[in-house]
Amino acid sequence: MLTATNTQWCDFPCGLMLILTTLLVVSGCGEAPTPPAADQTNQMVYYDRVTRKPVVYNITREFPAIHPATGKPTLVPACYCPKCQKWYPSPPLEIRERNPEVMQCPKKCGAKMTLTGPWPDEVL
Ligand SMILES: [Zn+2]
Repeated sequence: MLTATNTQWCDFPCGLMLILTTLLVVSGCGEAPTPPAADQTNQMVYYDRVTRKPVVYNITREFPAIHPATGKPTLVPACYCPKCQKWYPSPPLEIRERNPEVMQCPKKCGAKMTLTGPWPDEVL
């Protein structure tokens, strides 16, 4: 009687474990051929306040970031308007968190800007 109860209790978790393990193996195999995007992990898109153009540069902890050519803090994080297909200077993070409306496009095109988009060609 006791043995039968134990077997019943064991069946469910054991079957679940088997399914989970199978899923892990399957998904693990599926991800393996994908090459890691090492190039973009340390970089982000900035908006240069001097040239008014989007540029790609290394991620920094403090903003605005120092432009490597001029030595001046002119690089601010950029955000992308999918409707204008343009990068604009991004509002500071603390303002974005308090007021999501600031992510509206500055050109009043009605679209909401995102933090991702097609990367600019210019890399600093
Ligand atoms: Zn726009």
